[in-house]
Amino acid sequence: MSYLKQIEVENFKSWRGKQVIGPFMRFNCIIGTNGSGKSNVMDAVSFAMGERAAALRVKHPEDLIHGAHIGQPVSDTASVAIRFCDDEDQETVFSRTIKASSEYRINGVRLTLAEYTEELQKIGIVTKAQNCLVFQGAVESIALKDPKERTKMLECISQSKEFATEYHKKKEALLKA
Ligand code: ATP
Ligand code: MG
Repeated sequence: MSYLKQIEVENFKSWRGKQVIGPFMRFNCIIGTNGSGKSNVMDAVSFAMGERAAALRVKHPEDLIHGAHIGQPVSDTASVAIRFCDDEDQETVFSRTIKASSEYRINGVRLTLAEYTEELQKIGIVTKAQNCLVFQGAVESIALKDPKERTKMLECISQSKEFATEYHKKKEALLKA
């Protein structure tokens, strides 16, 4: 199973110029004072996973460029690369750059968003599972979901949903036997 090893940002939100965040372990904890950029780390990962601007706490994609929040963007582009490492220590880099529109790359090779998302899914990253990344304030909303909704969400994240029909068929057959 691949894990996120490192994040490389360039002029993204609170990071000016090129900066490296990490290396990470399989389990990590980010701490810091209010406003220090903890949520921006989640936004960076989410951005590289193809998320829309609205989910990254900005109105327009160009607001993600460093300095844009005070009307002084330092560049006309921003990018984030997320470096995954698999069990054989093989690394794969997924990266997204915004200019007038987004550009997606894997190990530097340009792809469409659909191809990019498909490749992320191949290494077990389900970008469509909206709670794959649990953002600030989301713990409470997950806890308040009714059990059916919560089960649906966990099935989506674990990708066990695709086995549900087969599971129910086998369960019925067993009950009949
Ligand atoms: P809290 O503990 O309150 O949740 P946090 O550590 O999660 O805080 P973030 O929300 O990640 O903090 O970061 C907020 C900081 O990011 C602010 O200081 C804000 O000025 C800065 N920031 C956001 N967008 C940009 C941008 N486009 N350019 C530069 N700085 C930005
Ligand atoms: Mg925060």
